[in-house]
Amino acid sequence: MPLTVGSKRVLLHSQEKGWTVEPAIIQIDGAHIKSIKTYPNAEQITATSHWYADDLITPGFVDSHTHLSLNFLRGRVAAEQTAGNVVEDLFFKLEEKITAADVSAFARMGAYECLLSGTTFVWDHYYHADAVADAMIQVGLTGTVAATLQDLSGPGKNDWENGLAFTQALNGSDYHAQLGISAALGPHATDTVSEDLWRKIVEVAEKLSLPIHVHVAQSPEEFQRIQTQYGCSPVDFLRRAGVLDSAVDKHLVHMIYVSQKDLSYCKNDSVRLIACPHSQMIFHFPAAYMDWWRMDLNWAVGTDCAASNDSLRVQAEMRTLATWPMTSLGLSSEFSEFRRSATPVQAQGMSALRHTLQSECTLSLNQQNLLNVLFLGTARSKAIHPKVNGLAPGSLANLVVWNWEDPVFWPGHAPLHSLIFSDVQPAMKGIMTLGKWRGTVGDLRRSVLNSNEYKSARREATDRLNTLLNRAGI
Ligand SMILES: [Zn+2]
Repeated sequence: MPLTVGSKRVLLHSQEKGWTVEPAIIQIDGAHIKSIKTYPNAEQITATSHWYADDLITPGFVDSHTHLSLNFLRGRVAAEQTAGNVVEDLFFKLEEKITAADVSAFARMGAYECLLSGTTFVWDHYYHADAVADAMIQVGLTGTVAATLQDLSGPGKNDWENGLAFTQALNGSDYHAQLGISAALGPHATDTVSEDLWRKIVEVAEKLSLPIHVHVAQSPEEFQRIQTQYGCSPVDFLRRAGVLDSAVDKHLVHMIYVSQKDLSYCKNDSVRLIACPHSQMIFHFPAAYMDWWRMDLNWAVGTDCAASNDSLRVQAEMRTLATWPMTSLGLSSEFSEFRRSATPVQAQGMSALRHTLQSECTLSLNQQNLLNVLFLGTARSKAIHPKVNGLAPGSLANLVVWNWEDPVFWPGHAPLHSLIFSDVQPAMKGIMTLGKWRGTVGDLRRSVLNSNEYKSARREATDRLNTLLNRAGI
């Protein structure tokens, strides 16, 4: 019997109608969605192998920037360590000692955490990318894997040729493609990659039509180094190096030390700016998202990593961003002025400013765009990955079943709004990737945590972490 999954509430996406919730049956062939039947009749419903009646079925979330294995540093970005450059002072020290087997063990734990958060597709970026891909395959998580490339500094500086070779091999691998793993080029950051290597990366990206996934302007040290060497900003450096003008997709992560002029170079839908708000608030401070939205730049959201975020729940990042304009109002110079000399006129001025900020962001933060970010990994309605296009024929068979009876959806008048603003995780009932249920529907979390696979993955990760910490003298 072919696998068919349906309910009275399925979140669908089309160019014409945008995101809608309709009764539908999803027919699955292997790892992919074969067809969608909307408004099924009674006979078709009876013939459905997995009919969930009132429950809501959606695609899985897309996490547009993460390092699955960096959970081994969870909780170590303590206050005294955030005083410096946490990536260079702490991460690099441990990463120099890490082995491929360690990365695989830690990434498995990250992959489980993603699945249990409703994320089915990630954009990962790390050393030993082959081990990350293996871990994802073992757990059933799909995504784009970028081997971290750096030749000037950092723990991977002597390994970039292997990383580049792996990227090209991954791109040609049917085995990985069938398991939902694709490749991206992963230059580490603007200051850790030489001009020569940047040229090679753009050449390979263009030849193979691969996206470039890179951290940009994430620290004052990076900004200073590029200024000293090239006399320009990190973003302007990318423009001068031909990266921004290249036709390939560019996935620019963090973008903190960025001017408004720099942002004007990013006004192109092949450039996506990736916001990781909670991570940035811990390792540094948030980028100027309001400028991104005022300029209507393409963007998406990521969790970064458990080391600096402590959470891999991308939907929680979205909840923060969706209300971000009001956070910026609370920190505005106008509000400081009000607090210095509070008058009714100034209070009214704040109210007017609130409306102005809201209207400036209406385009970027409208419900349809936010759902695009959550489920497609782009603010635009056009898919950026051929197999991640919502619940549609040709997409990976990745979906989540949500318990409609859970109070987080009640009274049920605005499910699209709930998916953005509610804390929906307790309502997760089941998750499928590549056409396979992960855990038991209706008993998801307990069934995964009690599985032998999870228990042995956790045991191995704990043992390897203890050994790594000993090796690094921490
Ligand atoms: Zn990162």
